[in-house]
This record gives sequence, structure tokens and C-alpha cells, in this order.
Amino acid sequence: MCNEGKLRAIQDEAEPGIFVAAYKCNKCNEIAYSEEVMAKVEAMRRGDAERRSLIKIGASLAISIPAEIVKRLKLKPKGKVYISAKGNEIIARIART
Ligand SMILES: [Zn+2]
Repeated sequence: MCNEGKLRAIQDEAEPGIFVAAYKCNKCNEIAYSEEVMAKVEAMRRGDAERRSLIKIGASLAISIPAEIVKRLKLKPKGKVYISAKGNEIIARIART
């Protein structure tokens, strides 16, 4: 914020199709959210995580990847991924060759 302009209440599109209360500076056009709205927006962005069950395949476990992600990342059956674990998270890095 430049701290010079006046803040005007607006509706900001935080995510496609999702409007939240925000403030816009009339001088630098910067947009600010209240702490409450900011927390909700962050929770929503994290919330892209879908709950899945692990599937047993022999001695391994498999995770099914939600269709939306398959489409967005253009994944194909038999495509290769590199799986690693970091703390409590499993990271699947797509091998593009
Ligand atoms: Zn400003």
C-alpha cells in the first residue's frame, strides 16, 4: 500500500468466479483484503486438496489422481512420475520426456 490514496470497498475476484470483500487504493490501485477474508482465501486455495483413499496393489499402495488434475496436467495412463516424501507430504513429480 502506498498509504497515500483512499481505500474503497470493492468486490474482488480472488479465484475464478469467487468474489470477496476487498479494498482498493484509489491512488496505486493495490488491492487489500481484511485478515479474515485473507485467511478464507488462503484456506480456499489450499482446499484444492481432495481426500482420497490409498489402494493396495501388492506390497505397494496407490493413490488415484482426481480427474480434474488428470485433465489439468494432461496425465496419461502409463505416464511416469517420480514419487518422493517430504515430511508428511507425498510429492509426485511428472516425468516429461
Ligand atoms: Zn495506494
